[in-house]
Amino acid sequence: MRTASTQQEIDGVQQRIKSHGLSPHLSPGTERTIIGVLGQIFPELKDELERLPGVAEVVRISKPYKLSTREFREEDTTIAVGSVVIGGIKPVIMAGPCAIEDENQLMATAKVVKEEGAEILRAGAFKPRTSPYSFRGLGVQGLKLLAKASKTFDLPVVTEVMSSEDVGMVSSYADILQVGTRNAHNFNLLDAVGKVDKPVLLKRGFSSSYEEWLLAAEYILSGGNSQVILCERGIRTFEQYTRFTVDLAAVPVIKKLSHLPIIVDPSHSTGSWDLVTPISLAAIAAGSHGIIVDVHPNPTVAKCDGAQALTFENFRTLSTQIRSIAEALKAIPTEPGKSG
Ligand code: PEP
Ligand code: MN
Repeated sequence: MRTASTQQEIDGVQQRIKSHGLSPHLSPGTERTIIGVLGQIFPELKDELERLPGVAEVVRISKPYKLSTREFREEDTTIAVGSVVIGGIKPVIMAGPCAIEDENQLMATAKVVKEEGAEILRAGAFKPRTSPYSFRGLGVQGLKLLAKASKTFDLPVVTEVMSSEDVGMVSSYADILQVGTRNAHNFNLLDAVGKVDKPVLLKRGFSSSYEEWLLAAEYILSGGNSQVILCERGIRTFEQYTRFTVDLAAVPVIKKLSHLPIIVDPSHSTGSWDLVTPISLAAIAAGSHGIIVDVHPNPTVAKCDGAQALTFENFRTLSTQIRSIAEALKAIPTEPGKSG
């Protein structure tokens, strides 16, 4: 819409869109209002809408995803979870054990990660394990412990939801709902988390292209939930040395294609604790809005993913180094043409 367009003109455009059985999606920005059109778009629509009063320009977005694109929303989306802002200048550290094992393990980890600068506690109660014989999590009992840790240490929590039937229940404990890599194509689950008023951390499917990943986000956004955080967690390639191959180019590419925040999981991508620090630092240097990292009081006895968990001491070092990188980044120009 034109900068000076009136409310009546904005309403008029929305009505015309609806008259064709399509859905308007309003995005009021600081500069101008953008109206997205969702549905089966016919070619003549562009000309028709361009003739309406108040319309500045009609842009056909050829990409199959719309709501997540920069064309749809120019400014970065920021997501507030309590007083924590995800998607802003300050990188956010989400840390905690891969799985909730017992109260002591969770509380001890939550205490340390909080003291060392983590702003979100991560921990799984429902674990999607490759083998059905592996530890699959404490379920609801784990969520109750998570709520206790959250309250005790004043830390919002992110935890995985594995099925659409569980979305309501997990939402009553979680501040951020996590959709795991194995569920990145579970369209019923994506639809279900699209209908709740909670931010969603959407892991990249381990064989998803950027387009498939953003289309998964589109399910959530088009359901009415605009709070999506993307998470690069490694993809499957021919390389077998690391657990998955972490694709750090995803950070600047996604930031170019989309307004959504993006973070990196250095733990599930590499699978080795000694690779977690270098990959985390590289992720932040590449512009990641944060990291989600596994930390355990005693990784050697962890019931899940111990090989990739950081000890408290290693987490402390990582956290300090992240602060230095974040500090240094302030000097890097983000707008083209300003680098001289
Ligand atoms: C996790 O973060 O606990 C997890 C299982 O991650 P992913 O879905 O990326 O494997
Ligand atoms: Mn894990």
